[in-house]
Amino acid sequence: MPLPKRRHSSTRQAKRRTHYKLTSPTLTTCKRCGAAARAHHICSSCGYYNGRQWLTPKAEVNG
Ligand SMILES: [Zn+2]
Repeated sequence: MPLPKRRHSSTRQAKRRTHYKLTSPTLTTCKRCGAAARAHHICSSCGYYNGRQWLTPKAEVNG
């Protein structure tokens, strides 16, 4: 198996790792309830996505 001739310096390692970062999720407003919801995901407050109810909101279950 071929092996690297020299070890990479810590600076080189750090330069590579500058690209390892978290990205914030894209938020849109829900068309039904107006709450902030993730794009292309079911709304967490009303449970709707694409004009259809997929999940029952917890407030309606308890109350
Ligand atoms: Zn909603």
